[in-house]
Amino acid sequence: MAESVELPSRLGILPFRNKVLLPGAIIRIRCTSPSSVKLVEQELWQREEKGLIGILPVRDAAETTAAVVPVLSQGVGSDSGERSSRVQVGTSESQRLDVKNQPENIQWHPRGVAARALHLSRGVEKPSGRVTYTVILEGLCRFSVQELSTRGTYYTARISPLEMTKAEMEQVEQDPDFVTLSRQFKATAMELVSVLEQKQKTGGKTKVLLETVPVHKLADIFVASFEISFEEQLSMLDSVDLKVRLSKATEIVDRHLQSIRVAEKITQKVEGQLSKSQKEFLLRQQMRAIKEELGDNDDDEDDVAALERKMQSAGMPSNIWKHAQRELRRLKKMQPQQPGYNSSRVYLELLAELPWQTASEELELDLKAAKEHLDSDHYGLVKVKQRIIEYLAVRKLKPDARGPVLCFVGPPGVGKTSLASSIAAALGRKFVRISLGGVKDEADIRGHRRTYIGSMPGRLIEGLKRVAVCNPVMLLDEIDKTGVDVRGDPASALLEVLDPEQNSSFNDQVQPIPPPLLDRMEVIELPGYTPEEKLKIAMRHLIPRVLDQHGLSSESLQIPEDMVRLVIQQYTREAGVRNLERSLAALARAAAVRVAEQEQAVPLSKDVHQLASPLLENRLADADGGEVEMEVIPMSVNNHEISNTFRIASPLVVDEAMLEKVLGPPRFDDKETAERVASPGVSVGLVWTTFGGEVQFVEATAMVGNGELHLTGQLGDVIKESAQIALTWVRARAADLMLTASEEVNLLEGRDIHIHFPAGAVPKDGPSAGVTLVTALVSLFSQKRVRADTAMTGEMTLRGLVLPVGGVKDKILAAHRYGIKRVILPERNLKDLVEVPAAILASLEILLAKRMEDVWSRLLKVGALGDNTQSYDRTLEAVKQTNSLVVNLLCLLPVATSIWHTRFPIVQHLPSVIEA
Ligand code: ADP
Repeated sequence: MAESVELPSRLGILPFRNKVLLPGAIIRIRCTSPSSVKLVEQELWQREEKGLIGILPVRDAAETTAAVVPVLSQGVGSDSGERSSRVQVGTSESQRLDVKNQPENIQWHPRGVAARALHLSRGVEKPSGRVTYTVILEGLCRFSVQELSTRGTYYTARISPLEMTKAEMEQVEQDPDFVTLSRQFKATAMELVSVLEQKQKTGGKTKVLLETVPVHKLADIFVASFEISFEEQLSMLDSVDLKVRLSKATEIVDRHLQSIRVAEKITQKVEGQLSKSQKEFLLRQQMRAIKEELGDNDDDEDDVAALERKMQSAGMPSNIWKHAQRELRRLKKMQPQQPGYNSSRVYLELLAELPWQTASEELELDLKAAKEHLDSDHYGLVKVKQRIIEYLAVRKLKPDARGPVLCFVGPPGVGKTSLASSIAAALGRKFVRISLGGVKDEADIRGHRRTYIGSMPGRLIEGLKRVAVCNPVMLLDEIDKTGVDVRGDPASALLEVLDPEQNSSFNDQVQPIPPPLLDRMEVIELPGYTPEEKLKIAMRHLIPRVLDQHGLSSESLQIPEDMVRLVIQQYTREAGVRNLERSLAALARAAAVRVAEQEQAVPLSKDVHQLASPLLENRLADADGGEVEMEVIPMSVNNHEISNTFRIASPLVVDEAMLEKVLGPPRFDDKETAERVASPGVSVGLVWTTFGGEVQFVEATAMVGNGELHLTGQLGDVIKESAQIALTWVRARAADLMLTASEEVNLLEGRDIHIHFPAGAVPKDGPSAGVTLVTALVSLFSQKRVRADTAMTGEMTLRGLVLPVGGVKDKILAAHRYGIKRVILPERNLKDLVEVPAAILASLEILLAKRMEDVWSRLLKVGALGDNTQSYDRTLEAVKQTNSLVVNLLCLLPVATSIWHTRFPIVQHLPSVIEA
């Protein structure tokens, strides 16, 4: 960069339209117009030394304000061919420059910048002869126009330089204002440079420039490099005074600096945002990829939204809704991987799924219809049905009454479940059965704590969810089979649930139900059925239902009554009818196979053959392409025959052979007892189990030993004690019972006794085996067999008193099922006989015992018996009258050879079952 330039007095002028070239600036221009090409050619290209030209800004006159009206005057051409003009430009300066032959209405600026060409290149000549130039110009210094003229086609101007001389410069540099201003400018410029260098990561070249170039030139250079308005450029050009120039430049540089800073801030912000969202995007992409890898790419966000919608439509009560909302908010804040997310979610799903509002519409309760419903579904059970109707009646009168919980007690298959579902049907409600068998954990009733991994709702809530209405009839099955362990007591949880708020629920066995729980329930006992009742149930209810379930009808399968009887006697030995139903179902299955086979090979009757032939011929004619004549058969005449083709000719009737084929050989007969008691030491007891009454054999045997008693068969403490008592009693009475020759002889001398209760897998307990135990022992020591047709029950005290026992009715039914003919009962159980169906009593001998001692003494002194006869007589008479039972019991007193028949069943004593 030249330090100072010697300017000629005249310069060729290149007008710059709406543009300014400032000193220090470098620009590249293309010259195409004839005047500019001429200017470049003559002032630059053809000169040997580097020439100079003046750059003068012009503006369109149209753009000038009204106050700046150019006055044009035509000059007269001189000899040199130069024409002078004067042009007036600018309002502030009041200068006039007139330009001769001014073709356009343009306004010249009175100041310009002398420029030199750093590089010149001439374009290829066009066929028209026109050339173009590309010039790189460097602005050198300011000048002012004294006079404008034209030289050929381009302008020239007489000029005077505006730059200060060296001396002037030195003087200004002393000016403290200048010093301050230049320092200010340099600082600003330096700041800008550092910002730019930092941004563009360029080395400190510009900074070097700042050190070496005089400040007034720097000002121009800096301003020239900014994109500023034409007006500002002009005013910079006009800033001939150094102080003015510096302050203007400082202002512009500073403004630029600020704008860069603002822009930077914005960029940073934008970049920050961008990078944050980009980061998120990236992370999301990665997460999706991971989920896809895991095969788990469901969209959790959508799921939560769906869950929320579901919750909204669940119709929860307000307090639950609030709670659920709280939980949902918590869930939304959690990540799916977070512990607790899942349990929280499962919990909310459950809340959303529960039938808060959905209820089955309760029918207007029609007691008559309900009764009919119960009757049509169940045979017998008169008392039970009556009690249910009473219960429903109370509900009808006072629908919101806190009705008791109904508790059905009875052996399996007696209709407890089906009664419950009938109640539901009568009420028009849905029915749900919840089995509590084996529940030992309180959480199974209450539900687990939510924090527990894999936690689940309790069975009751689960049941509600399953049934999907909020007012079902709920059956809590096997409530007696809940247990207690370390995980709490389900019964106490149930107690909470069932506390009178609840309406209906039904349960099994009464025995192991904890008393407080039992307290909340109204117990209705369902006894087992007699064979006759079973037969009726089978014929009226089970067979039609079984046939229907197997797609059969009475036209395809018939099970005659005597076959059902056989099934009852020989294939089932149960209190209820569950196995009976299963056996009937097995028969139906077998029949279904046969029916299906037969249907494939439909046996056609003669008539049908005749009907079929013409139809067949017609079809063949059609296939040959001949005309088909349809024969119309009136339905009324022939439909019977047609339907016959789809029906089996005759129904399948179940017979004994089929029974054996399907159900196998008979499982039970009356000979079992006889076989079991074939050797001495075995007696037949009657016990009460969860399956109702049962026959229980007791086996005793003796072996070499030293007087010990061994007991096996999963026995409880009470029954073990009973065995001890029995042994002691027999030993004490050994001489009386004629088991030993004298009282001095020890029955157990040199031997051990082993007593076993078969069916060892079933736990047994209770005192009612006392009598049976004594019998087994007496039979063993006396080596006399027990009568196979007699079964017994009764608790015995050490002194030989026979105490009453429970479950008499069930026990008698069980004895009957086993084909037992005589039953020995404690005398004080006489009253229980009213419960036993008359038909059963009629087929059995009931023998009542009071004291074993008495029995034995009476056995020895036979005559004493008459004393008690009267009292039994009266009691039985009462039983007869109140229950119109036909009590036809024979008193049997088998004293070795003679059997006493009296009108009434009296006392029985053990020897009655000991055969001679
Ligand atoms: P539980 O619940 O007492 O174990 P269920 O109610 O399941 O017994 O009864 C077993 C089957 O026997 C059911 O099909 C039931 O309908 C039928 N059943 C039981 N008692 C009767 C009855 N008195 N009349 C008609 N069917 C009965």
